Amino acid sequence: MATEYDAVVFDNDGVLTTPTDRAVLVDAMYDAFGDVGVIAPSDDHVRTLLRPSVDSLYDIAGAHDVDPHELWTAREYAAIEAQLEEIEAGRKRLYDDIDALTGLETATAIVSNNQHETIGNIVDHYDLDWFDDWYGREPTVQGIDRKKPTPYYLDLALSELGTENALYVGDSWVDIQAAEAAGMDVAFIRRPHREGYDLERAPTYEIEGLDAIPDLV
Ligand SMILES: [Mg+2]
Repeated sequence: MATEYDAVVFDNDGVLTTPTDRAVLVDAMYDAFGDVGVIAPSDDHVRTLLRPSVDSLYDIAGAHDVDPHELWTAREYAAIEAQLEEIEAGRKRLYDDIDALTGLETATAIVSNNQHETIGNIVDHYDLDWFDDWYGREPTVQGIDRKKPTPYYLDLALSELGTENALYVGDSWVDIQAAEAAGMDVAFIRRPHREGYDLERAPTYEIEGLDAIPDLV
């Protein structure tokens, strides 16, 4: 049943490393507001800054009379810093089953909605430079629109790897949608944090851990 793939592309959070604790990211949003001079933002605005669309970012920036680009830059760097602390403290860690990937003969890459610099910090800290390529989101407002489910960074990875025949591995519905949009097969990895997580569309494969990957390729 195995299909031959030229490359396997991995989401990061919830696939290679544990997701970042939500409370850590919420704290980082308060830091970001503080950095642009907003004291005591509403819970609503903090939630929005965590996952905004470009429009909702402009709305909350306008409500506080701050430049949306400045707010977004502050947000991205606060998130990068907070996550680096989590990585260095061992709270954002690699899943043990990543060892199953070291024998893969296909090309490999990481495509994440996390910041490019955060993915770089993970690659550095955990010696993941054996991945052929890695992409995170650029820390600009434009990066918001390029996030999955938009296949922008997946398309970029495929063209860089020189293949149209790759498997994507993710733990979220946006991963399934982005892979479909990029014309890729997708393996949904159901780790414990995804117990009971419903999928509107069926992935090509559903797996429990990375040790299932060598058999798929
Ligand atoms: Mg993920």
